[in-house]
Amino acid sequence: MIKLVVNGSKGRMGRAILGLAREDADFSVVGEVDLGDDINAAAAGADVIMDFSLHSATLGAARAAANNKAALVIGTTGHSADAKKAIADAVRGIPVVWAANFSTGVNTLFYITRKVAEILGPGFDQEIVEMHHRLKKDAPSGTAERLAQILADVKQRQLKELARHGRAGIVGERTPDEIGIHAVRGGDVVGDHTVIFAAPGERVELAHKATSRETFARGALRAAKWVVGKPAGLYDMQDVLGLK
Ligand code: NAD
Repeated sequence: MIKLVVNGSKGRMGRAILGLAREDADFSVVGEVDLGDDINAAAAGADVIMDFSLHSATLGAARAAANNKAALVIGTTGHSADAKKAIADAVRGIPVVWAANFSTGVNTLFYITRKVAEILGPGFDQEIVEMHHRLKKDAPSGTAERLAQILADVKQRQLKELARHGRAGIVGERTPDEIGIHAVRGGDVVGDHTVIFAAPGERVELAHKATSRETFARGALRAAKWVVGKPAGLYDMQDVLGLK
């Protein structure tokens, strides 16, 4: 039985994780921590702490995990470069899975996007289309940026030289190496991502559609099971899924 503490337990992700963990015989929830609670007290005896809170709260969770020799799963996003470094320094002695997207499907999409780009090569034009709900504030999504980064890595080029965010007006013909990135917004869409590889006469499209945030919670719990007992180090979801 894995003793689990959730930091950010009252949030949307925290509640989704707790709901699933309670139905899972492998987990025993020993701590629910939110704003104003003492994570150090809750962390005593924990096997793993899951942090889905606020960027400013992750360092405290990291220190609590390190002090108690617990494993750590970080899903919180929005850390500055300095904050990331401070967190990484704090967790040197424990195993940590840190991922901005815990969806198993999206991580599989990352993997196959690289493979397809390698196989099809430069003759195929590459475009990424993402759609999210009308309330999303940033564009393109972090997941779309990661997909574009993978395509640029395969081309062995800098993404900032290749990224083409939308098109309007007399923009001229498409250049062979550009990576088109398009953000669509509307309704309550949780997150759709499509990578298009188009050549004269044929087209390959890789698509992922998230319909519920439970998918992130399930992936994070999978990461929590995987990370307990691993050697100290920083891992990501590609490690958890054996995709490296
Ligand atoms: P949310 O706003 O619904 O919940 C955040 C919770 O953290 C709230 O209950 C809040 O009170 C709590 N919190 C704030 N400060 C805290 C502190 N100092 N200590 C403890 N708890 C504190 O947000 P959410 O949608 O649940 O998302 C939480 C985080 O997870 C965000 O950073 C979000 O971007 C990220 N997220 C990651 C993934 C992924 O797959 N990695 C998926 C979804 C969301």
